Amino acid sequence: MSSWHRVEIPTAIEGLQTDTQCGLSAAEVERRQERYGPNELIEGKRKQPWRIVWEQITASLVLLLLAAAAISAVVGDLTDTLAILAIVVLNAYLGFRQEYRAERAMAALKRLAIPSVKVRRDGQVREVSARDLVPGDIVLLEAGNRVPADGRLWETAALKVQESALTGESEAADKDAQVVFAEDRALGDRCNMLYRGTTVTYGRGAIVVTATGMETELGRIARSIQTVKTELTPLQRRLEDLGKALGLAAAVVAGTILVLGLLRGESLDLMLLTAISLAVAAVPEGLPAVVTISLALGAQRMLQRNALVRNLPAVETLGSVTAICSDKTGTLTENRMTVTAIELAGQPVDGLQCGDRQQLVLAASEPPALGLLLLSGALCNDAVLSSEWECPDACQAIGDPTETALVVAAAQAGLQTVDLARAFPRVAEVPFDSDRKRMTTLHQVSIAEAGELPLWDSMHLLGKPATLAVSKGALDSLLAICTRVWVDCREVPLDGEWQQRIQTRHDRMAAKGLRVLAIAVRSWEAPLTEAAPSSLERDFTWLGLVGLRDPLRPAAKEAVQTARQAGIRVVVITGDHPETARHIARELEILEDGGLLTGMELSGLSPAELEDRIESVQVFARVSPEDKLDIIRALQRRGQIVAMTGDGINDAPALKKADIGVAMGIVGTDVAKEAADVVLQDDNFATIVAAVRDGRAIYDNIRKFLKYTLTGNVGQIWLILLAPFLGMPLPLNPLQILWINLIADGMLALAIGVEPGEEGVMRRPPRNPKQNIFAGGLGRDIVAIGLLLGLVLLVFACQYPSVDLVRWQTAIFTTLAFSRIGLALTIRSDTDSLFKLGLMSNQPLLGVAVLTFGLQLGTIYLPLLQTLFETASLPLADLAIAFAVSTIPFWALELQKWMARRRSTSFC
Ligand code: ATP
Repeated sequence: MSSWHRVEIPTAIEGLQTDTQCGLSAAEVERRQERYGPNELIEGKRKQPWRIVWEQITASLVLLLLAAAAISAVVGDLTDTLAILAIVVLNAYLGFRQEYRAERAMAALKRLAIPSVKVRRDGQVREVSARDLVPGDIVLLEAGNRVPADGRLWETAALKVQESALTGESEAADKDAQVVFAEDRALGDRCNMLYRGTTVTYGRGAIVVTATGMETELGRIARSIQTVKTELTPLQRRLEDLGKALGLAAAVVAGTILVLGLLRGESLDLMLLTAISLAVAAVPEGLPAVVTISLALGAQRMLQRNALVRNLPAVETLGSVTAICSDKTGTLTENRMTVTAIELAGQPVDGLQCGDRQQLVLAASEPPALGLLLLSGALCNDAVLSSEWECPDACQAIGDPTETALVVAAAQAGLQTVDLARAFPRVAEVPFDSDRKRMTTLHQVSIAEAGELPLWDSMHLLGKPATLAVSKGALDSLLAICTRVWVDCREVPLDGEWQQRIQTRHDRMAAKGLRVLAIAVRSWEAPLTEAAPSSLERDFTWLGLVGLRDPLRPAAKEAVQTARQAGIRVVVITGDHPETARHIARELEILEDGGLLTGMELSGLSPAELEDRIESVQVFARVSPEDKLDIIRALQRRGQIVAMTGDGINDAPALKKADIGVAMGIVGTDVAKEAADVVLQDDNFATIVAAVRDGRAIYDNIRKFLKYTLTGNVGQIWLILLAPFLGMPLPLNPLQILWINLIADGMLALAIGVEPGEEGVMRRPPRNPKQNIFAGGLGRDIVAIGLLLGLVLLVFACQYPSVDLVRWQTAIFTTLAFSRIGLALTIRSDTDSLFKLGLMSNQPLLGVAVLTFGLQLGTIYLPLLQTLFETASLPLADLAIAFAVSTIPFWALELQKWMARRRSTSFC
């Protein structure tokens, strides 16, 4: 039924056979999951395996090879034709396997990006993956949530929803569960419904799910416009251009060799085959693929370290990050808050005890205002205690940690959220947001129920109220709405002197690193069911302050130091008070003199002034999410590559603007996650640093891959191009060229792509993202080592007796194959010797090297392969000589690394 907006709430609930208070039972959910399937949109055009195979076969180089096979067939050389075809198949298989793995890795990452949602099932609120929702589920939503399925609203509190994905309307729409339409309405007008793909921007709401997956309105649209864009990363694009340029160069070289060969009197078919094989060998065809594979597999590795990468270019950018702007709460700290200090306006609550399990122990002699404060903190609160609360060890509460701390503190004093909800039903609210920095709720007081509560006596302070409002939030925000203060069981005006006293006490708490919340109340003797925020949030009575301790994450300090060693600036951005922020920054040892700026000071600076100061600021305190944009802009104008963390709905623009937007996986809103490039599954700052490290290692590997394939290709070209000038016959036959290409570019090079990061990767400054990939001597090395390889082979070819052409070619073929294995092993590190790295530290590469070595011996000693590759058995002494000569480029590179190491130590 698509007309749920026209039915009353009870009818909808009944129609979907569910219950708003208990939700569905686990058994019923299972039955419905079987019937309706997972709640997901079926992607129309994910790359199917056959498509990958097709792309492999139709790649231009493969087409060239097929042409070579055709030429062999025409000249009647069936063995060659079959051998070339076998190489085509093997090449395509290798390519397919890699790409399929990369595709699968990306698909798995995408599945993980599915948000989790709060549902009520079996009478309890729990978090489940949005994929598991079924019609009839009771889903609770709040600001920042992406609506996971279509549903009829049955409860709303100041709910606003951004529906532009469906209706094109960018203004958020007000929602109201109580409205029922008599006739049909357009989607955008159905204010009692929520639709999948829209976003809650304000308030709270609860729906009963009416449709999931492809049955949702979004699913219907998706069905008609299913497309997937695969965008190339900047590096992929650059390398694709490079590939084209190399292709052109290879064509020229191949043409030259063809002409030279013909002039020397070689046969046309042999020269055609040689030219084509050389062209194939000269182009590093794995180039774009290796980038995709390195990035995708890198993303998979990052996931194991809890960083979920949402798009591939991010992996690349991570490696060049120069500044990390991090939220404090939850990222640098654990976000496990506990109430450890309370100050009532009249008196500090001295000796507030925390029991063994960090429990609050209230003495009977505590002032009644303390009870009222705890009660108020738990009322103005969206966190709920899970039923495991019976056992204090497993005290779990679902919700924002600032709020769970208050709920837990109240529970420790005997006030349970379920009882409070019955005694003080909430009738209206003005939700918390990081700009206002406060939250206010309005409650009816049910005297009969409230009278049963443990701290009921404290309510007597307020007389006999029928309605109670509670506000909690940052000091300044609450002082602005308070006119009185609760002192010694009576209210007195909140004059300047009181304000000063409160401020001093607040600062004292904040200086200990506590997050400080102020709490205030207002009561009415008459019942009140609604109030506009402007009339509700005034004339409050100040109750006191609550200090929440949030310990620094154990790994945070070390991660901050690692980042700084790697030349990365760490900037802390927090909505908390400057004193709280200062304390944490000192603990992290990042704060320098004059390095703290408040949001207020920040807004007083012009963009140019901020740009001037930004480099000397390590901490931004009391900033709003909007300020983050200014901070990013200023840093970017100074040429920094910025990673910025965020969790709230208002953080989305900053996350998009940053070079790397990092969202919190645990406390982050769906909106923040969707705007981000990376989602931290553990909300941990150390994970960002680990991801930067991986990003650097992946970039290094791509460079090593380039160094390896291009060096070999250059060497091979020199050999084949110059041999005729030195009066030699063709040193390699076409099949031998293709074989070397298969083992080197196809197998060894890809194994270099999985090299773990080098030890010193976080001890060097960040790379300039504009820097050419061949920078830092890479281009020079490719030319030099390539030349050396070519020369070694040429000299060897000159010296080796050439009476028997087949044996002569076999010796050169073997030397080349061995040198490529040796080069693969040493190119693994730019600085460290292979003997320090150890062969076992890249086992896939070691495996491939051993396999290749064995296969190469096979091509020269197994009779069948001998016929195929036109080789002859080399005597053992010749094999030993070939081996020894093949190690020359290896030793040359080891020597170069040794000199580089010496230079850097003498420089230090
Ligand atoms: P950080 O950057 O350190 O992660 P933040 O930017 O997320 O912090 P906010 O959550 O915006 O900081 O909190 C800013 C201030 O608002 C806090 O210092 C606190 O006084 C107040 N505050 C935080 N959470 C709540 C809440 N749930 N209800 C009322 N006030 C709150």
